[in-house]
Parts: sequence; C-alpha cells; structure tokens
Amino acid sequence: MSRRVAVVGAGLAGVATAYELAALGLQVQVFERGGSVAEQASFAGSALLAPFAPGLNEAAPAPLTWRWRRWRADRRGGDAGAALAALSLFSLARTAELRRSLALEDEAADGLIVALADTRRAAAAEARLEGWRALGLQVELLDGLEARQREPGLNAEAPLAAALAFTPGGVGNARLLAQQLRHQAQRLGAGFRFHTTVRAITHGSAGLTLHHEYTPPPEAPTRGAEREAGDTVPQALGPQEERFDAIVLCNGLDAGALLGPGLKLAAQHEASVTAPLRLLEAHPDLGPKAGWVDPAVGLAIARIGQRARVTGGLAVTGAHTKVTPDFEALHRGLQHWFPGSVLHQQVQHGQSRRALPADGLPLLGASARQGVWLNLSPGGQGWGLACGMAQVLAQQIAGQTPAVDIAPLGTQRLA
Ligand SMILES: Cc1cc2nc3c(=O)[nH]c(=O)nc-3n(C[C@H](O)[C@H](O)[C@H](O)COP(=O)(O)OP(=O)(O)OC[C@H]3O[C@@H](n4cnc5c(N)ncnc54)[C@H](O)[C@@H]3O)c2cc1C
Repeated sequence: MSRRVAVVGAGLAGVATAYELAALGLQVQVFERGGSVAEQASFAGSALLAPFAPGLNEAAPAPLTWRWRRWRADRRGGDAGAALAALSLFSLARTAELRRSLALEDEAADGLIVALADTRRAAAAEARLEGWRALGLQVELLDGLEARQREPGLNAEAPLAAALAFTPGGVGNARLLAQQLRHQAQRLGAGFRFHTTVRAITHGSAGLTLHHEYTPPPEAPTRGAEREAGDTVPQALGPQEERFDAIVLCNGLDAGALLGPGLKLAAQHEASVTAPLRLLEAHPDLGPKAGWVDPAVGLAIARIGQRARVTGGLAVTGAHTKVTPDFEALHRGLQHWFPGSVLHQQVQHGQSRRALPADGLPLLGASARQGVWLNLSPGGQGWGLACGMAQVLAQQIAGQTPAVDIAPLGTQRLA
C-alpha cells in the first residue's frame, strides 16, 4: 500500500508539494483552513520569477529589496548561496516544464530587469557579474538605452545608469498557477479539505497523528473572490484525528505553532497595489512588459496579464506585529517608472505576510520530529522556488535522491 502523506496549507507551496507527491504515487491529503487555494501569501505577490543572485543586495544597496533581508549565509561560506542559486535555476526550469506539460496558463511573460539608477550601483553590480556567472546565472549588464529598448514604457525622464537582465527570469500569476496545479493534483488522486484547521501533530503508539477540525467561517466568503463548487465539503464537527506516514508543513508563518518551540520565524510584510493597464492603440508600450525591480527604493513592478502590480514597503517584524502599509509610496514608484500606465478605477490594495527564517534561507527537508517535513519558502522568493522545492522534497519523502543537492538548506542548521 502506498504511503499516506498529509500536506498542511494550500498556498502555492502546499499545492505544488501535493502535486509532486501525487505524481510520485503517494496518497496525498491537503488540509487548508481557508476556503480555497492561494489565499494568503500566494494571493497577490510581486509575481517575479527570479533566479537567486547572492549579494545582489550589496550590489544594489538600499532598504533591502531583492527579497532578502540579509544574506547571512554568505558569511558562513558560499555553500548555501550556491545551493540556493542552483535550486532557483532548477525551480524556474521545473515551473516552465509544468507550464508546458500541463498546459498551465498563468499570465506568464519573460523578462526580468533590475534598475541601477546611478553609476555607483552600476559599478557595484559589474563587480559581481563574474561571481554570478560562476554560479550558472545568465546575467547581462545593460546600459540605460538598452534597458529602455527592452522596456519601452519606461519614463524617459527617470535616471537610469544601467540595468541587470536575468535569464531565465520573468513574471507569472502564482495564484492562477496554484489553482490549476490543484486540479492536476486532484486528477492524480490528491484530496483537498478546505476550512479545516490543523491543530496539532502527535507521535504515539498509533504512529504519527494529525489533529484537525472543520472550521467553516460563520458566513461570508473568504478572500478569493471566485469560489469553486465543491471547495468546502462539510466535515464532521469537533476535533478529529487521522494517521499519516508523513506530514509536510507548508503553512508558512503558522508552521512554528505546529512544530514547537524549535522553529522561530519572523514575519516579512509587503504591500501591493494592482491596477488595470491603460490599453491605448496610440501608445501600445504603456506599462511594463514583464518584471522590473528598483532596488534603490525596494519596489517591484510586474505586468500580470492586462494589469500592473507594484509591491514594496518591506518590513520585518515579530510574527504577530501589525504594519501600516504606505500605498501612496507604491503609486509614486509606479508613476516614477511607468507614468500614466494604469487606470485608477478598480485599483486593489493588499498587504501580506510571509515566513522568514532567521537566516533568510528556505526550510526544506526533514524536521527534528520524525515523519514531519518542512517546505517553508523564504521571504519573497517563494514563487520562484515553489515548483523546484516541491519536487525535491517529494523525491526525498518518496525515498529518492533529490534532483538538486539541498543539504545546505536543510533544517539541521537550526539545531
Ligand atoms: C507581497 C508579496 C510579494 C511577493 N513577491 C514575490 C516575488 O516577486 N517572487 C517570489 O518568488 N516570491 C514572492 N513572494 C513570495 C511568495 O508569494 C510566497 O513565498 C509564496 O506564495 C508562499 O507560499 P506558501 O504556500 O508558503 O504560503 P501561503 O500562500 O501563505 O500558504 C500557507 C497556507 O497555510 C494555511 N494554513 C496555515 N496554518 C494552517 C493550519 N494550522 N491548518 C490548515 N491550514 C493552515 C494558510 O491558510 C495558507 O493558505 C511574495 C509574497 C508577497 C506576500
């Protein structure tokens, strides 16, 4: 009989993990306390699919941005940086392969450019090029004119000394991908239980037990606007117990509550503004073509189909602290780089939190508790890493050798 695996959380990480486990022939049951997939951190991310380039922060200093608070692992040796760069490339390739083989449509567009507004930033980035290339990253240093040719909607007045262009790199709608991947996982036999909260995990004579409870909202829809029929199948009321051979925690910031005191996660907050692009025949180049990052102010701008999304205002706090987002700063950033490109009706403002381990690295692999595995994506790289992290973890759980060596990213470093 095949092994039964529970996945806690149906954000992008959980859905991708469920798909990969089911594809390897395991019996999968997903538990999600929300009403559908990708309702939390996976709901309105910056949409950037980016390879990991260690030190990009220092190449382009500022109130952090390239999604990493600080690359502390660099100080402990380059292993983790190299492993993460390799995993990010593997993951982008896995995302492309899933899109192709499963005909997934997630409003994808190729192109990822990092602005280097002044010559100091341009020089710092140039000094890092060789190191990035040695890690297998394909990166070009563009002059301002070349960058404007690739993104013709850019403000001609905005200072731009140079830019970095990463390949592969681009944008996509993580939520759309998660919704479609969920159906593919279900097709392979994975079950999804929504409005079901996992309360605890215990080990006893019966083995590994997951304690969960059906927790429907009193009324009213949850965050996802469109509800699919059958998402919420009423379950037995009151606390329930179920036996599993393995449990994978893909529940972001809440993983600590299930794993116990050994796991400390900070909350990384980011705000987003999404607005419809102004589509004018006379000005076909308005708005971004794909992904544009301005590290100087910690801003990312992406085209998502016929909308533009700008994210920024990164703040790192304790898990329960609230942060007041500055949406005006995001509107100003969009206006600075792509003036007049969006309509001001139907603008959506959002704010999300995601888990950030103390060293900013993913938590991927077996935890200290037998049978409990972690798939916690780090800060703002979770979309780009999701498909690769899910596949290598599923391979480990199935007893196979993972396609990428992720030992330096394992959870043992927390010990
Ligand atoms: C504003 C913003 C911008 C971002 N930009 C980028 C980007 O440009 N590039 C990039 O690569 N990444 C980006 N990310 C990161 C990426 O979106 C996230 O890392 C990724 O979506 C996280 O997915 P997840 O599945 O781990 O978490 P989530 O989507 O938060 O899913 C966790 C799920 O677990 C559920 N859950 C929690 N506890 C329980 C429980 N006890 N029982 C049952 N269910 C539970 C929650 O309801 C939730 O649905 C961004 C994120 C944000 C918020």
